Order: sequence, then C-alpha cells, then structure tokens
Amino acid sequence: MKVYNFAAGPATLPAEVMKKAQDEFTCYQDSGSGIMELSHRGKYFKPVLEKAEANIKQLLNLSDEYSVIIVQGGASMQFAMIPMNLLNGGTADYVDTGVWSNKAAKEAAMFGNVNIVASSRETKYDHIPAASEWKSTPGAAYMHITSNNTVAGTQYQNLPTAPAGVPLIADMSSDIMSRCFDASKFDMIYAGAQKNLGPSGMAVVIIKKALAERTDNSKVPTMLRYSTYIENESMFNTPPTFGIYILSLVTDWIIAKGGIAGVEKVNNAKAAMLYDFLDSSSFFRSTVAKADRSRMNVVFRTPNDETDAKFVAEAKAAGLMELKGHRLVGGCRASIYNAMPVEGVQALIDFMKKFELENR
Ligand SMILES: *Cc1c(COP(=O)(O)O)cnc(C)c1O
Repeated sequence: MKVYNFAAGPATLPAEVMKKAQDEFTCYQDSGSGIMELSHRGKYFKPVLEKAEANIKQLLNLSDEYSVIIVQGGASMQFAMIPMNLLNGGTADYVDTGVWSNKAAKEAAMFGNVNIVASSRETKYDHIPAASEWKSTPGAAYMHITSNNTVAGTQYQNLPTAPAGVPLIADMSSDIMSRCFDASKFDMIYAGAQKNLGPSGMAVVIIKKALAERTDNSKVPTMLRYSTYIENESMFNTPPTFGIYILSLVTDWIIAKGGIAGVEKVNNAKAAMLYDFLDSSSFFRSTVAKADRSRMNVVFRTPNDETDAKFVAEAKAAGLMELKGHRLVGGCRASIYNAMPVEGVQALIDFMKKFELENR
C-alpha cells in the first residue's frame, strides 16, 4: 500500500533524497565506507558540510555578513542558547503565538527580563496578533518570533520587522525554505531540521557574525557559544555527520526543484487544495483565523472528538498516516511540508470526502 506520512516532525523527506541516501548508504562515492563511518575532517565529509552551508546561503540569498552553522540539540536548544548568548542582562521581546514561542520565552526568562509583546494564548493561539498592537521594548536585546506555529496551524503571512536597532530573531523550524522571504531583514534564523530540512537532533542556525560577537565568553560554556561554531565552521567537536549529509541532499533537492520559489508554488497549491476543501465542507472545519492559516500545518476538526479519533484511525488504515493533532490541542493536523507531494494531499482530500459521506 502506498503510504503518505503527514507527521509534523520528524516528517516526510523527499523520496529522491531517501533513495539517493539508500544507494550511498554503505559506500559513499569511492570510499568503500558509509558517510557516517568517515572522519568528519576527512576528504569525503568536509565537502558535504561545505555543500550544505553553501546551498543554504544560495537558497536564502545570504550575504557574507551571515554564518550558517549546525548546532545539535534541535530548535529547543536554541531557546536557551539565544538568551545565554544575546540577552546580557537586557530585556528580550517575544511574540507569543503558540506552544513553541511560549517555550522559547520561558527559557529566556531564566537569563533575564522577558517582555511578551503580544499573545494569542487566550484564544488558544487561533491567530497571530496584529503587529500594530505589539508593545515592544525600546532598545530590547532582541525580538523573537515564531514564523509558523506547528501546533496551532498559524503562520505569519507577512513577516514583521523589529524596531530600528533591535535584532530580529525567528524560529522558522516548520516553514524554513517553504516560501520566499527577505532573509536580510533577520539577524538570526534557526530551525530544527526535522520538518523541512532533514533528520531530527540538529538545528540550522543562520546568524549575523556581528550579533554573535555580543556573547560574554567568560559566562557561556564553549559548546554553547555561537562564536565557537562560527570560528570552527561547525566542527569544534564531531558534528552530526549523517544529518548534515541528508541536509546537503535535501537542499540539493530544493535547488533542483527551482529553489524556494519553485517549492513555494507547489506548497501554495497544496495548501489551497486542502483549505478550499475544508471551507466547502459542512463536516470538516479549519480552526484558525483565515488570514493566518499555515501552509505547512493544516489543523482541522470533524464535528466532535470521537469522530476526530475515528477519522485518524480510518485514515491510517487507508495509508494516510499521522493525522492526529498535537497532544496538547487534539483534533486533526495534516503537515504538508516541502516533501509532501501534491498526490498525497489529493489522496487525503479524496479520503476526507469519502469519510464525510459515510459519517455525516
Ligand atoms: C518542532 C519545533 C520546535 C522543536 O524542535 P526540536 O528540534 O524538537 O527541539 C521548535 N519550534 C518550532 C516552531 C517547531 O515546529
């Protein structure tokens, strides 16, 4: 049976990438060994890391002001590393648009003052608070946003700017490389790899070198400083070599698809198909503000919790996997990242139509 995996993360990777990795798994090029068996400082791996970084710079059109680094610990480690490196006794502004922003702000509060400039928590994060209502701190150490809210299913349609002189930092874990945006407006962008970029356990961090210089080296352990990764090109210690290898293949794949503009077109089509169906249905419904709907994580419900569970179970039996909503919010969620083919979304819609007829 053909299976489509709608998991939020770890998530579906491009079929072509999985196949290439399989072909090379036990013998990378002419080395006679798999890539994960080879020295990270040897002649085979170094070009892989350089390729991954160069691909990211190319895809996001990054100037030399930025470094691309790979840090272990996923996006959650960044929640702590950001304030450890950049707060320095100041105040950090956080926009609270979901579970992940909230976690990020909580970590920052361990290191200094946190100002929640706006929050949609009261309405279960069903929308993104309008930027015109944000109460930002003059001279904040930085402003932090979450561009796509994986659990709630909302996404900034227009990415905001920070007040002049305040570095803007974005957690783009669940929508990096899915749509075109101006990266030069950000001082730092980070993403856990397991949604749109590769395997779990590592974060891709894009940071302005000047920002990384703010760290007080006497207070932050070596492995937790951005400067350590920048100075050692992500190889102060042994990096997650296999994950970086997959990252190089996934970014190659995005380039082959016409870059971010190419995948964005397909992403827009997939999201439009699914939301159009939800809007036309009197059985299924989207739970988030129309203007803020995520093109990556489509959150929806049937008329009640029992039917949600029945839908998830029957979809699974039909090869449509992992449609259960996040454990904190319930309901259903289809994550349709870059690697989800249009056919997968079509199969889901066909199944939803059938389920609706049988259960309404
Ligand atoms: C998945 C996710 C995280 C957490 O990623 P980990 O790599 O598991 O730490 C953080 N932020 C967002 C927006 C996410 O989607």
